[in-house]
Amino acid sequence: MRLEAIISLIEEKPRTAKEIVFALDLDPKMEKEVYEMLKKASKVLKRRGKKLLVSPAVCKKCGFEFESINPSRCPRCKSEWIEPAKFFVSKD
Ligand SMILES: [Zn+2]
Repeated sequence: MRLEAIISLIEEKPRTAKEIVFALDLDPKMEKEVYEMLKKASKVLKRRGKKLLVSPAVCKKCGFEFESINPSRCPRCKSEWIEPAKFFVSKD
């Protein structure tokens, strides 16, 4: 898995870790590694004067916004219907 490939994907448009796994044709089990790579990407982008931003995961049932990037269940309504966090790059 290449860091640059992940960076160019999220520079193109906001993507979830799952979408990155799919776009790079990785094993679905690699999702955890993608999160690790995103942490590295954040540092690399900083050196380039860019910023990795995260739009929070949101409960699709009640609208609760999570602090965790990969939650499994809503603490407010207990729903597991969750829109995962999306990663993207800010140019400034
Ligand atoms: Zn909820």
